[in-house]
Amino acid sequence: MQQPPFIAIANTFGAPVYIYDAQVITAQFERLKNAFKQVEHLKFHYAVKANSNLSILKLMHSLGAGLDTVSIEEVRLGILAGVAPKDIIYTPNGVSIEEVEAARDLGVQINIDNLSVLELFGQRYPETPVCVRINPHVMAGGNSNISVGHIDSKFGISIHQVPHILRIVNLTNMRINGVHMHTGSDILDIDVFLHASEILFEAATHFKDLEFIDFGSGFKVPYKKDDIETPIEELGQKLSERFNGFCQKVQKPLTLSFEPGKFLVSQAGTFVAKVNVVKQTTSTVFAGVDSGFNHLMRPMLYGSYHHIENLSNPEGKARFYSVVGYICETDTFGSNRRIAEITEGDLLAFHNAGAYCYSMASNYNSRLRPAEVLWIAEQAHLIRERETFEDLIKGQVEIDIEQLSTNPII
Ligand SMILES: *Cc1c(COP(=O)(O)O)cnc(C)c1O
Repeated sequence: MQQPPFIAIANTFGAPVYIYDAQVITAQFERLKNAFKQVEHLKFHYAVKANSNLSILKLMHSLGAGLDTVSIEEVRLGILAGVAPKDIIYTPNGVSIEEVEAARDLGVQINIDNLSVLELFGQRYPETPVCVRINPHVMAGGNSNISVGHIDSKFGISIHQVPHILRIVNLTNMRINGVHMHTGSDILDIDVFLHASEILFEAATHFKDLEFIDFGSGFKVPYKKDDIETPIEELGQKLSERFNGFCQKVQKPLTLSFEPGKFLVSQAGTFVAKVNVVKQTTSTVFAGVDSGFNHLMRPMLYGSYHHIENLSNPEGKARFYSVVGYICETDTFGSNRRIAEITEGDLLAFHNAGAYCYSMASNYNSRLRPAEVLWIAEQAHLIRERETFEDLIKGQVEIDIEQLSTNPII
């Protein structure tokens, strides 16, 4: 697959800039579909929080994906992108019953992960079917910030509380049409995933109105050459067999659902930033770029790896650099990386920048967020303008400190 013309795009739209390659997203989607092709009723809900640009949502919709949303605002973005509410699943955590009701009013599939909310919802809307998020208490992945299935996680209703769910269902006459788990990002081990899925299958047998089983996501993608990744074809084959067996056992044509985020968009994204300064200290050579963790937070937040490449001097002699940002705090993209010799003004590419990058960007240090470009059908399309100073002050209300009102509202 040919890469987008990063330098030409950065020269046209300016840097820093996020560039997404639609071909990669499409190929990943096809790969996923193919891995589970043995299953008759299959549905993918793209996890909006990974990258919530409206054009990305439209692309997902065009590929046949629904959406997985975690806030009422994401639900509204999905509807704005043209996705039918029935193809949107709403899986919030820790939100108010009012927000759940607002999502219900919009007609999306509700997924509840809390007994008190389930009971209230069942009392008020017994006719609206809901899915329940179960925590199977299985650890997936190594990083406790992104692993959400363990015993003291705030996510889901414990598998040990299924009797409690059933009591609420009986009392309210509500219908549970789906069971769900999401054990967190970065599933390294498919045996762990399959083990958790067995627990979910067992839980699923208790719900007579069941229509679908949703296994969430967390599929790991490679960040560098020879990196470990979820063997999706193997997982697809093994889980499909078990799923089909389960449908046969309960004699129901259930739907198998997933909510991939990172798997679909991570590798499709590249962040391009310009080097402002090369700074030689007594121990290190720093390459300081015109960006920082305000634009790409994952290295500082999770210690995640983003491969860095010098686009301007690809054939240059490799040297060791620490690539850092301009934020006035420790702001490291990568330490001691071997990169083709960098000169001030060079453009660097940060790979795997499609998921949890722009969507986590902020205005910290009063910096503006970058532009986003979609490379699709050999064309570059601006899909979000670079912010301006006006965006930064929008919504701020200036008051006259010298002349405060004598008659305040409060
Ligand atoms: C974040 C999230 C996902 C997507 O996870 P990835 O690791 O990006 O695939 C899926 N489902 C839920 C409920 C999530 O919160």
